[in-house]
Amino acid sequence: MTGEAPTTRAAATVERPDTDTGQWHTSACILCECNCGIEIELDGRSFRGVRGDKDHPSSAGYTCEKALRLDHYQNGRHRLTSALRRTPDGEYEEIDLDTAIAEIAERLAAIRDTHGGDKIFFYGGGGQGNHLGGIYSRSLQSALGVQYTSNALAQEKTGEMWVDGKLYGGHTKGDFENSEVVVFVGKNPWQSHSFPRARPTLREIARDPDRTMIVIDPRRSETAAMADIHLQVRPGTDAWCLAALLGVLVQEDLLDHPFLAEHTTGTGAVLGKLAEVPVADYSARCGVPEDLLRTAARRIGAASSAAVYEDLGVQQSPNSTLVSYLDKLVWILTGNFGKPGAMFLHSAFAPIAGGGGPASGGGKARRTPVTGRGSSPGWFRATRSLRRS
Ligand code: SF4
Repeated sequence: MTGEAPTTRAAATVERPDTDTGQWHTSACILCECNCGIEIELDGRSFRGVRGDKDHPSSAGYTCEKALRLDHYQNGRHRLTSALRRTPDGEYEEIDLDTAIAEIAERLAAIRDTHGGDKIFFYGGGGQGNHLGGIYSRSLQSALGVQYTSNALAQEKTGEMWVDGKLYGGHTKGDFENSEVVVFVGKNPWQSHSFPRARPTLREIARDPDRTMIVIDPRRSETAAMADIHLQVRPGTDAWCLAALLGVLVQEDLLDHPFLAEHTTGTGAVLGKLAEVPVADYSARCGVPEDLLRTAARRIGAASSAAVYEDLGVQQSPNSTLVSYLDKLVWILTGNFGKPGAMFLHSAFAPIAGGGGPASGGGKARRTPVTGRGSSPGWFRATRSLRRS
C-alpha cells in the first residue's frame, strides 16, 4: 500500500542480540507515570512472565493488570523493529539506526542553517513512563535552536497546566499514600492509577476510620463506591461544587492563615470573592445536598493533610480551566503543600543528580521512599524550598 508504513516485524532483517532465557530481570513498567518496578522472565525476546518487584521502593511489588501484558507492546505485531526510510516510489525500506540518525541530523542542521532553528517545531519530550526522551530532547532543541515545542499535554491537560504555571510555576502531584483526606475530582484511580500502589492505597484509605476519601464525580465509579463522601454532581457542574466547597472553607474560616501569609500574594481579593459565594444556591445548581457539601469542606479544613487529584473527567468537561483553578485553591487555602500527605511539585521541578534544576529539562528525580503515614521524606523539604508561592 503506497505511502503506508509497513508492519516490519515479520520481515525484519536487522540483527538483534541474543537474550538469555529463564532468568528474571529487574525493570520498570513504562506504561504510565508510576513506573512500577517489575521483574521479567525472558524467553528469547518474548516475556514469558512479568511480576511486581517486591524490592522496588515505591511500588513494593504492586502492578496493575497492564504491566502483565507488556509483551504485547514489546513484541506486538505492529511494532516497528527497525528504522524505515521512504523510497522514491512511496514505499519504505529498512535502514540501520546509525544511518537514520545521521541522515536526520544532517537534514535538521540544514534547515537550521538555512531558515533558522525557530522554523523547526518540536513535539514530544518523554513518554508517560520513559522520561529519558524528555532529557535528551532538551539537548536536541538546544543544538538546533528550537523555540516552539508542544506535547501530548497540550491536548490532555491544557487548562490545568496553564493554571499550574500561573499559580506556582509548575505541575503538582499529591502524596496520596500518606494523606489524611484525599479528594478525587473527575478521577477514578481504581482504573487510571496515576500514583503508586493505587488500588492498595485506595483500600487502605477506605478501611481507615481516621482517613477520608472524597470523590466529586457524576458517576458512581469504583473509587466513588469506596468513598466516604461522594459528591455526585450533575454532569458539567463541577465548578459550582468546588466554588461552594471553597465558599464554606472561607466563610467558616477553615483556612491556614500562617501558610497563606508566608507563601501567597494577592490572597485578599480571592478570599473576598469566595466570601460572597451563595453556598446553598451553588449546592442546588450542582445537585449536591448542601449538608453533604459542608461536611466535605469541614473535613478538608480540619485535616492535618489533604491532597487533590483532578483528571480527565473534568479536564474534558465544561469550565475545565476554572475547575482546575478552583480545585487547586482547595489545597492552597488549607495550606496543603510541601508536607507529608499533601501536594508537592512534580519531579520535573526537583533538582536532579549533578546539580540540574528545573531548567535542566524534567529528569526523573530520586524520591525518598515513603514508608508510611506521617513519614517526613526529604522530598517534601526539597520541594518546599524550591519556590515560594
Ligand atoms: S500502574 Fe500499571 S501501567 Fe502504571 S506503571 Fe504501574 S503497572 Fe505500569
